Amino acid sequence: MAELKYKRILLKLSGESLMGAHSYGIDPEILNYFADEIIKVHNLGVQIGLVIGGGNIYRGLNASSQGIDRVTGDQMGMLATIINSLALQNTLEKKGVYTRLMSAIKMEEIAEPYIRRRAIRHLEKGRIVIFGAGTGHPYFSTDTAATLRAVEIEADAIFKGTRVDGVFDSDPEKNPNANMFDKISYMDVLQNNLRVMDLTAISLCRENNLPIIVFNMDKTDNLYKIITGEQIGTSVGN
Ligand code: UDP
Repeated sequence: MAELKYKRILLKLSGESLMGAHSYGIDPEILNYFADEIIKVHNLGVQIGLVIGGGNIYRGLNASSQGIDRVTGDQMGMLATIINSLALQNTLEKKGVYTRLMSAIKMEEIAEPYIRRRAIRHLEKGRIVIFGAGTGHPYFSTDTAATLRAVEIEADAIFKGTRVDGVFDSDPEKNPNANMFDKISYMDVLQNNLRVMDLTAISLCRENNLPIIVFNMDKTDNLYKIITGEQIGTSVGN
């Protein structure tokens, strides 16, 4: 059995990544791929919490341009994360793993309410726990929600799956000469305004000494390799 570098993780995936090649919504192929990657590490015995964004469906920040106020827009965004979470839950369960969806906004016909101690119990029993509806509050992001849940469940690290290989000194999708960091401090991320997560999320990680692993989720087995100790992506810490 492979040696585990991380035993309990919180994996954050953006809603946008679920669109695949489309410009809106959910691509079933991507869902399947994500589920397979998650199950590979679940089979190692890793306890997994998941947070998925909602940007493929709705973002609160876009609300005002559509004549919708910010708070309502954010509520719509949080509901979008529930749609994505349900899709991922269903795909995971069809592949034979047990999951629980816990929502920060009460909707008991669809998801359990988020209760920290219950979430930890699910993880201990080997269920993949999906945390939906962000923090339940407007003006926050799902990066912040993921960090909050990671800290609450005492995850060993937060894994931020992206479509680039890690954290770079400039945007690698615009600058072919951008350099990637293997390791970087929270302070450097903050001071250089590097796009890892929003400021609230980074500050929360820093205050709680929660390592952030930024890696390319689109490359098969990356998550598995990191969990079993390979140096892939960028790790952000003190
Ligand atoms: N959101 C919120 N509070 C939270 C988390 C999310 O209001 O705690 C709303 C916010 O409007 C955000 C939307 O949900 O734009 C979707 O989340 P996010 O933009 O973080 O998704 P991602 O960029 O990861 O797809």
